[in-house]
Amino acid sequence: MAGTAARALAVLTCIDSRIDPLAMLGLRAGDAKIIRNAGARVTDDALRSLILAVNLLGVSRVCVVQHTNCAMVDCTEEEIRARIEAQRGVDTAGWDFLATTDQLATLRHDMALIEQCPLLPSDLQVAGFVFDVHSGALVPVDRL
Ligand SMILES: [Zn+2]
Repeated sequence: MAGTAARALAVLTCIDSRIDPLAMLGLRAGDAKIIRNAGARVTDDALRSLILAVNLLGVSRVCVVQHTNCAMVDCTEEEIRARIEAQRGVDTAGWDFLATTDQLATLRHDMALIEQCPLLPSDLQVAGFVFDVHSGALVPVDRL
């Protein structure tokens, strides 16, 4: 099996345990590069992986898949900080957990970050979805 993505696809999705990225998209091992972080956010490190995947590993399509019932949407930044501080007795100052209260605006913003990245080609296909963890439906962001 080659190290390139057989379907020329990269998927950025959340760490949520209910998500099986390959099954969610009907893919199998070797088909896609899978990047995961809490909330499926386009962070500097997610962009780093996308830049490498696109420029060196055969990726020409990217999909960002957030999901329903995501803790990064259902909790505010302040609530997350309070929970960690209460549990660990630590100061969370300086950490940004990237919680959001507007999932669609965040998804569109993050897709734009990919599209505007100067190290990625202008013809890169970028799509956004919200995965329904209860029904298994994958809804394109332009239909939400
Ligand atoms: Zn999540």
